[in-house]
Amino acid sequence: MPRPAIRPDRPRAAAFLPWDPRTGEVAREVSRLLAAARPGTAVHHVGSTAVPGLAGSNAVDLAVEAAPDEIPAIAEAARSLGLARLEGPGAPPPARPLLLGALAAGGEEFPVRLRLVPAGRGELAELIGLRDALRADAPLRDAYTAAKRRDAAGPDAAGARPTGAAAFAEDALYRLGLRRPPEGMGGPIAPGATIGVLGGGQLGLMLALAARAMGYRVAALDPDPGCPMAGVADEIVAGRYDDADAARRLGAMSDVVTYELEHVGLGAARAAGEGAPLRPGLAALAATQDRLAERRFLRDIGEQTAPWREVRGAGEAREAARDLGLPMRLKLPLGGYDGRSQARVTSEAGIDAAVSSLGGADGRPLLAEAEIDFAAELSVVVARGRDGRTVAYPISRNVHDAGVLVESVAPAPVAEAVARAAREVGDWIARRLDLVGVMAAELFLARDGTLLVNELAPRVHNSGHWTIEGAATSQFEQHLRAILGLPLGSPDPHGVTAMVNLLGTGADRPARLAGLERALADPGAHVHVYGKRRVFGRRKMGHVTVVGSDADEALGRARRARAALSWEE
Ligand code: ADP
Ligand code: MG
Repeated sequence: MPRPAIRPDRPRAAAFLPWDPRTGEVAREVSRLLAAARPGTAVHHVGSTAVPGLAGSNAVDLAVEAAPDEIPAIAEAARSLGLARLEGPGAPPPARPLLLGALAAGGEEFPVRLRLVPAGRGELAELIGLRDALRADAPLRDAYTAAKRRDAAGPDAAGARPTGAAAFAEDALYRLGLRRPPEGMGGPIAPGATIGVLGGGQLGLMLALAARAMGYRVAALDPDPGCPMAGVADEIVAGRYDDADAARRLGAMSDVVTYELEHVGLGAARAAGEGAPLRPGLAALAATQDRLAERRFLRDIGEQTAPWREVRGAGEAREAARDLGLPMRLKLPLGGYDGRSQARVTSEAGIDAAVSSLGGADGRPLLAEAEIDFAAELSVVVARGRDGRTVAYPISRNVHDAGVLVESVAPAPVAEAVARAAREVGDWIARRLDLVGVMAAELFLARDGTLLVNELAPRVHNSGHWTIEGAATSQFEQHLRAILGLPLGSPDPHGVTAMVNLLGTGADRPARLAGLERALADPGAHVHVYGKRRVFGRRKMGHVTVVGSDADEALGRARRARAALSWEE
């Protein structure tokens, strides 16, 4: 067998080298080899080595854009040449793989990085557009070089991190018009204006508190005039989440409309949007409120999920179980939350009952999904402003009990490569959703280090509550800044923060909390109570936060404070 021309990549020290013309030879040679291995493959030389005069690591960046179903074959062709897919913690998913290798030219070996990107999302156009702008614009090239030099030098004497070549490049994309902001850049919405919220639960309550602090008025649509948001809202429009007339009334009294749950009817959201801009928009809502639509969206943008099938009826569910293996999860596409509207199937004999319990016996579509034996559940909260910039919070590690979030700790005690990859997943999804506002991506960290996306929420999220006391800007203020067209705030953490949910217990009865004095005996504990008038088993009633020095200490204190609280019989 002929020895592949391309050799395995080997770890090398970070370098900052003058541009080397031999990198062009490498790019041409790899392109030629790949086009020969798979005829018709167009390989583009991008990145710094494609710009004569641009200093850097002299790694040769190449990109191929292809239909999602062609990417595996192209990756195979690249592997036959000696390139190897980057795997493990921090690696991009197989649907948009990164392949690494090294090739010699003129007596020296250069690293080669080949990115395969799904077509139709404009990623290649950005890479090429930036390359061409850098080729044509000497001052831009110089400024980019300066940013790279600062990166290479590391933190300054005061420990401040450099702004970074990545941020510079992102900025350039907007300034050059290669990446379009999600909306026209009208001025920000000023204090005194009214923020309309579809849904008046605890997320709406905490949004409203942040809005009040900034001088805005708030109105909400909720079926319950005594909903948690009622205590702070200027107006509650009583109506169901799918009541288009009520939503239209809310929109008419608002300057901007947002949602605190993704289970609002699309028709109602559209009606609210007639009176004021809806942020995030309808597309983000449509892509995330239906689990099957969400799976298709994630597949199309190259994100990895648990293996899944759309099934109708018990027969198809049995076939899915044979493909996916047991245990398997069956989920109703619409309306599920806190583990409701889903069933865990552990045996072939249990399939009929599980399908029936979800109302799927009539052949309505269900999501069937392999159960993942994860190492941890993580989530990333990302904000994206009206100018298109994104800010990702440190990720949190979450624990669920029977589908209900029990506790979170952030920054999550995981390897930095995993944390960075998770933030990149969030950033990528926010941009592909064309989001304006905050969103959360729930992730499974598989035992091999792979990140699988479990669920998206185009809104503030329970796993981001730690940011109220634990970060420079809370997720609620951040969401408001984004939808109001204001600059986004810093996501920097104050320490390691633990958040423990205060869930209801027992039968449905009036809510009376006991033990607050004992919980607050720890002067660093903060207790949030959502003001729900009735309590019952597993209902989200509040949460406890402790900012500490490490995950175990913060969690221990938050759990102790939580354990002091109870609901009177
Ligand atoms: P919900 O909308 O109720 O949050 P999720 O799909 O996020 O629904 O499921 C809730 C929880 O159930 C998850 O956070 C996880 O703990 C568990 N779960 C759901 N799907 C799977 C799966 N495929 N494999 C393993 N655990 C799962
Ligand atoms: Mg979930």
